[in-house]
Amino acid sequence: MKATVIKSTGSWYRVKSGDEYFDARLKGKFKLEDKRITNPIAVGDVVEVEQNPGTTDEWLITKIEERDNYIIRKSPRKKHHDHLLATNIDQAIMVATLKMPRTSLGFIDRFLVTLEAFRIPGVIFFNKTDLLSEKELASIHVIMDQYKMIGYTCTKGSVLREDLGLLEEVIKGKISLLTGHSGSGKSSLINHLIPEVDQKVSRVSDFANKGVHTTTFAEMFFLDHDTAIIDTPGIKELGLSEIEPEELGHYFPEFRALLGDCKFHNCLHVEEPGCVIKEGLESGRIPVERYISYLSMLENEDNRR
Ligand code: ZN
Repeated sequence: MKATVIKSTGSWYRVKSGDEYFDARLKGKFKLEDKRITNPIAVGDVVEVEQNPGTTDEWLITKIEERDNYIIRKSPRKKHHDHLLATNIDQAIMVATLKMPRTSLGFIDRFLVTLEAFRIPGVIFFNKTDLLSEKELASIHVIMDQYKMIGYTCTKGSVLREDLGLLEEVIKGKISLLTGHSGSGKSSLINHLIPEVDQKVSRVSDFANKGVHTTTFAEMFFLDHDTAIIDTPGIKELGLSEIEPEELGHYFPEFRALLGDCKFHNCLHVEEPGCVIKEGLESGRIPVERYISYLSMLENEDNRR
C-alpha cells in the first residue's frame, strides 16, 4: 500500500494513505546513499507500507519512492551532516512582514537562493497588512513588483482580518512548504487554513509518547486530498553550505538571465571591470537591494561551512 509520510520522530513515522493515518517504522535498515544525510525518510516521502505480521496497528515501511526534490538543513546534532527536512515539494512559501517584526529583504533573499539551489519555486506572502499605513502599503507593492519581475509569486494579506489575498488560490492542489520567522504569523495562518489542526497535533503527540524522541522538524497537514502544507521550524540553518562563491550568482534568476553575456569565467561580480551584473545594476535590470543581498551572502562566511 502506498502512503505519504506526514511526520517523523526519528524512528517512527506517521503516514497517510487515502483518508487513513498509520504509525509505521522502517523494515530493517535502509542504506543511506548520501553518508552526510542523517535521516533516511522525511516528511513528503511517498512510501510503500505493509502491516507488521502478528500486529494490528503496526506498519512497516518497505520502500521509498524516488523523490522529485528535497530540501535539507544542517543537522542540529551532528556537525557536517545534513538533515532531510522535506521532500516532494511543489513550492515553498515564506510568511514575511514589513513591520512587527520586519522581515529583512536579506532574509527573504537567502530563502529564495536556498530554494533556487533545490529547484523549488518560491512564494512570498506578506502578512499583517492591517498594520500598514498607506505609505507602507505602497512600499510593499514596490517590493512585491520587484520579486514578481524576477519570477517569484507574491501576495499580501492579513490573517488577522481573514484576508489571505491570493494565497488560497496559490496553494490549491499543491504541496507547499511553509516557513517564516517567529512573529510572522505563520502559526495563525496554519490555524486559519486548517482549523482542526490543534486536534491533529494532540493526536500526533499520543503517537510521540511511545517513548521515542519527540523532536520534529516538519509536519504535513492536508487541507483536502491534493492540497497540503508542510509546516517547518525556522529556516535559518537551511543550507547555503553547498554553494561555492562563484556559483552564488546563478541562484539569482535576474543575474542568471545576464550571465550568458559575461565574458568572465568565475566572475564574482564585485570588482571585475566590465562585469555584466555590474552593468545590469547600473541599467536597473538588477535591483540594488538584491545586489546588496548577494554581496552580503558572498561575504558572510557564516552562511557556509
Ligand atoms: Zn560578473
